[in-house]
Amino acid sequence: MNTTSSRSLLGTALLLLPFTTFILRAEGIPATAPSPATSPAKPVPTPYEHTAPTNPALPPPDADIWKQTWHDMNRPYPPVSTPLPEEELAARSKAPSNAIVLFDGKDLSAWQPSKWVVKDGYVEVTPNSGNLMTKQAIGSMKLHVEWWTPEPLTGQDGQKRNNSGILFMDPKDGFEIQVLDSYNNKTYADGIAGAVYGQYPPTSNPIRPPGHWQYYDITFHHPKFDAKGNLTKAAHVTVDFNGVRVQDDTTIIGSTHGPARRAYKAMPDAMPLGLQDHHDRVRFRNIWYVPIED
Ligand code: MG
Repeated sequence: MNTTSSRSLLGTALLLLPFTTFILRAEGIPATAPSPATSPAKPVPTPYEHTAPTNPALPPPDADIWKQTWHDMNRPYPPVSTPLPEEELAARSKAPSNAIVLFDGKDLSAWQPSKWVVKDGYVEVTPNSGNLMTKQAIGSMKLHVEWWTPEPLTGQDGQKRNNSGILFMDPKDGFEIQVLDSYNNKTYADGIAGAVYGQYPPTSNPIRPPGHWQYYDITFHHPKFDAKGNLTKAAHVTVDFNGVRVQDDTTIIGSTHGPARRAYKAMPDAMPLGLQDHHDRVRFRNIWYVPIED
């Protein structure tokens, strides 16, 4: 094609452009396709779901967890169980002498700078301000934390009913024990309070109604990796929820964060602990931990 005919074609195209745009708009079709760079990522299950792993650090290929679908609304709900009386929980929740206190109701000096608010002995999420992260990197630990959710507003259901979480080993690639008002609240079983989020529902549901303090005692063992970044020991967790054991040395199968199940990503032996900002005004108090053997 010579230069003259190229110019002629270009000129015709430029002349037709406004007309083409008009037709596309008239059809209700956007004249400009969204840029791939700004399009939100679609939540699609990863191949990791239903994958029978060969890594002996993970549950065997015939384990039930590999047959479960992420966020399956038909997955059976755990039965309701009875929490211990609040006086008993309060009496057993005092920090022992070897504990490292992360929040005693007064200040957030153990935490990275944030906009979360300390008031009347608790700290409250400031919605959309980001997770609250410890200054200190922590590895395996026995953690105590108490949390509280307000009365839900009309229409505040499912995962939107005062959601937060305890974030172990990094909010990007780590592991969440769910915090949610799961009192008479229907959502997927692997997303209710006491769940290893997206993996294991709690074995029972001992939650109190909103407006009461809820007690978590969590024994967490961090994952281990070899020099090449291969998983050699999975993270595992035991959760006592209001005095009822709801996770018993549960083997975590990978990162709980993101829009699908994810495999492990290599990480250090200790990382900051986080409390999740899921845009709801959830409160926390009496937070302490005791370091434990891996
Ligand atoms: Mg959460």
